[in-house]
Amino acid sequence: MVIDAHMHVFPDALAGKALPRMAEVAKVPYHTDGTLRDTQEKMTQWGIDKGLFLHIATRPGQHKVNDFAASIQNRHILCFGSVHPKDPDALAEMERIQALGLHGVKFHFDYQDVRMDDAAVKPLMDLAAQLGLPVTVHAGWDPYSPDHVHAPVKAIAATAKEFPRLKLIAAHMGGMMRWDEALEVLAGRENVWLDTAMAAVYCPPEKFRALLQKHGCERVLFGSDCPWDTATHELEYLRAAGLTVRQLEGITAGNISALLGLPGQ
Ligand SMILES: [Zn+2]
Repeated sequence: MVIDAHMHVFPDALAGKALPRMAEVAKVPYHTDGTLRDTQEKMTQWGIDKGLFLHIATRPGQHKVNDFAASIQNRHILCFGSVHPKDPDALAEMERIQALGLHGVKFHFDYQDVRMDDAAVKPLMDLAAQLGLPVTVHAGWDPYSPDHVHAPVKAIAATAKEFPRLKLIAAHMGGMMRWDEALEVLAGRENVWLDTAMAAVYCPPEKFRALLQKHGCERVLFGSDCPWDTATHELEYLRAAGLTVRQLEGITAGNISALLGLPGQ
């Protein structure tokens, strides 16, 4: 059983446009055509049993992203919904995310063009903590917005500290291209999970190992960031990190199952 806890997919009508546009801005290749059908085929090829798909509301009022997420969920497809922090209905929409049966909320502050330490973000984190909805944030640098980091590691650490009941997943090992800072201020925090998304592409092996060691493997989640990398490549990288079988099993399935309260494997 392998669960990929960081994947992306788009509605068919959007995939053909969204993916090439994002790839062009970020100057990165992609490995599916962005549709659910192709992504599921790739999951089979890559040996991924379940995928957690993280959606992003890129503007206020974009609630249909959550309807789409709910419409594609099944035994193999799990989704986090999303709200835009500047959405006047963001709190109600977060409650709707839970009512729709989505498993958590994703923020990507670079795509949302809001800083994580913006005052609008706090009530959302507070509500997520109250609802028990895990939150994933894109952490650190992003090739989509290379000159402006909207979720610096320090802001993530401050949020985790302020909301100790919040289950906070800091994607990309806690801080893409900010490995030392992630190691210093985030690794080891109790209510923080790190996902491995894109580590194979961006994170040097010695930093990767140091982060795993300091944070502890129990709160690390395997993620590929598909379509931006293949699960095969990311799994290969993870498996070369010198972990025990038990640690690997946790990272590739057990930890996310426990976090989301998925039925027994
Ligand atoms: Zn991603």
